[in-house]
Amino acid sequence: MAFIDLKAQQERIKPQLDAAIARVLANGNYISGPEVAEFEQQLADYVGVAHAVSCGNGTDALQIALLAEGIGAGDAVFVPSFTFAATAEMVALIGATPVFVDIDPNTFNIDVEHLEATIDAIASAGDLKPRAIIPVDLFGLPADYASIEAIAAKHGLYVLEDGAQGFGGTQNGRRACSFGTVATTSFFPAKPLGCYGDGGAVLTNDPERAAVMRSLCIHGKGTDKYDNVRIGMNSRLDTLQAAILKEKLAVFDEELVSRQAAAERYEAALSNHVRTPRVPAGFTSSWAQYSIIVDGDRSAVMASLKESGIPSVVYYAKPLHLQTAYKHYPVGPGGLPKTEFTAEHVMSLPMHPYLDEATQAKIIDAVKNAVAVKEKV
Ligand SMILES: *Cc1c(COP(=O)(O)O)cnc(C)c1O
Repeated sequence: MAFIDLKAQQERIKPQLDAAIARVLANGNYISGPEVAEFEQQLADYVGVAHAVSCGNGTDALQIALLAEGIGAGDAVFVPSFTFAATAEMVALIGATPVFVDIDPNTFNIDVEHLEATIDAIASAGDLKPRAIIPVDLFGLPADYASIEAIAAKHGLYVLEDGAQGFGGTQNGRRACSFGTVATTSFFPAKPLGCYGDGGAVLTNDPERAAVMRSLCIHGKGTDKYDNVRIGMNSRLDTLQAAILKEKLAVFDEELVSRQAAAERYEAALSNHVRTPRVPAGFTSSWAQYSIIVDGDRSAVMASLKESGIPSVVYYAKPLHLQTAYKHYPVGPGGLPKTEFTAEHVMSLPMHPYLDEATQAKIIDAVKNAVAVKEKV
């Protein structure tokens, strides 16, 4: 059984993929071929923003967005600790200071009350200048942008949406990757919209920021890459990946429907047995992961699933503020107890658009069995 079944998707759209790949090979424009601009336009249209600039991966996308804003030494950037390392890593890499904020364990996203308390604490300490918030759309659910954008406006902060997992989710009809001033996403194969290698994008409604970010992707180019007007990077989505992503985007909405149906089946069957993920009113998730909280010994539950041939994964067992590379960075007032609790009890079940009901029934039975067995001992 696959945790994320990329093969089933490939089989479904194989003729389109083969033709798209063959076209790129025939044209020979491996870098910046026509498919790249076509995909960027489709991506911007899908999300509902004016500009999408593709780049090498979701980590570069974060770095590009931070560089474009001129964020650096002395700046505090508020990030959740319960996320993939890249979110805080790029803040630290450009010389700014990641400041870790707790999460709401029901949604796995940044806790907006703790966010505001953390901003106040950093502002009154006076060593760092509060500059930006990077909310993460964890496991496919957009963060609470209505609240976050209000907090950012009040404190004069820049909001950068890390939509690497959120692509396809919505809040009040707005799609993920349209929130904040700039949003980033990733096309790593296992993300909701994944390619067959690395890829990423930055998205914004602001034409000036879009132009700066496009320049940053190509060695700080001015009129061309031999006219260098700023220090940049070499970060591009290659033509083959863009051609593949165009075909995957064409079936993405149907896949979201399938993911939602699978999530509803999990919710109906498991909500009395484990803590299932909450999708607040007005939100939809793209279900990048289906993550549950189990009381007691998670490893026993995972071992029991494994015996039944069912893969499960822990995202994330060690939150960033406890990692060797990040433990010297500040955390919000009172520490991050909800993050630490979640890291100890969370686990993710197989989730993808091609999860059929029979397979899912097996998973559900095994989870119920594992939890029941655990409770007896
Ligand atoms: C995957 C991921 C990234 C980084 O994307 P890559 O394309 O792997 O560089 C950044 N943030 C989050 C939350 C992610 O899940």
